[in-house]
Amino acid sequence: MTTKCSFCGEEAAIRIEYARLNLCKKHYIEFIERKVLRSIKRYNLFKPGDHVLVAVSGGKDSSTALALLAKIAKEMNLDITALHINLGINAYSEECVDKVKKLVEEHNVKLYVISLKDLLGLGIPEIARKARRPPCSVCGIIKRYLINAFAIEIGADVVVTGHNLDDMMAYAFKEFIGQNLEAIRKLSPKTETIKNLVVGRARILYDVYEDEVLRYALYTGLPFVSSKCPFALRESLELDLKKLINELEERYPSTKIGFIRRLAKNIEKYPETRNEYKKCTICGLVSSGNECSFCKLTRRVFGEPKGPYVRRKIREIIDRD
Ligand code: SF4
Ligand code: ZN
Ligand code: ZN
Repeated sequence: MTTKCSFCGEEAAIRIEYARLNLCKKHYIEFIERKVLRSIKRYNLFKPGDHVLVAVSGGKDSSTALALLAKIAKEMNLDITALHINLGINAYSEECVDKVKKLVEEHNVKLYVISLKDLLGLGIPEIARKARRPPCSVCGIIKRYLINAFAIEIGADVVVTGHNLDDMMAYAFKEFIGQNLEAIRKLSPKTETIKNLVVGRARILYDVYEDEVLRYALYTGLPFVSSKCPFALRESLELDLKKLINELEERYPSTKIGFIRRLAKNIEKYPETRNEYKKCTICGLVSSGNECSFCKLTRRVFGEPKGPYVRRKIREIIDRD
């Protein structure tokens, strides 16, 4: 006997255990869209008229975030711009750019692409080699810097990223194991904006399970890269934690949703980092010390800090359009 959708009586494609619902594809899509809209309201992620910058990588999560936002932009009076960073990781990066271009075309969103090779003459593999650091570590510094610098230059009120519930829960567990309680404080659905220094982040998929995001992207036919970055780690504490968290969810349904909602509620009980918002003396953007990680990294690779140059180039890219 086939299971029927709890809403329309059609054949169900999925059971959502924590919501005690069986859903056909159409009602699954609506369920996710409603859920995200509720999270946006619950966590007060936007205000009417906000200029929202969506950082799209080409992966399922940020593509889903962009598609969902594009759908509700009018209703919530949001102005949406997309930013993609071409990391120069050969065929993988080319595939990412292609998918992102298709995605924004389908959703009618203005896209800016920053190519690392055009900007700095090198892609992630070469920068990592020269810096003698793991690719993901330099990639993280560069992406964070470029997204923030771009958001500041274009005057965005908020940056949306594609972090889902599983990502946030795994980060929280990892920081809890290391007893880095100040790092947990930063895992809120929304982070703070400090004028001219840092633009706050809104995590619109905070309440959405990773497999729910994938299913949404597949059911709605979103363009996204299915291949993995060649530098993606095959083993890590985070990946093991995700497996563990999913095992817990299977045995005790609602573990994940219960955890993330309580984390959001309790976030202010975790200690704040002292002196978190310093200004980089070289480029003027947010830094934990006198010089930001991007200026330090580029000084090491290129012999001079590239923050001010990059900010100028970003302004040129924006002015060109
Ligand atoms: Fe960058 Fe590492 Fe992600 Fe590849 S896996 S995109 S190198 S952070
Ligand atoms: Zn249905
Ligand atoms: Zn700097």
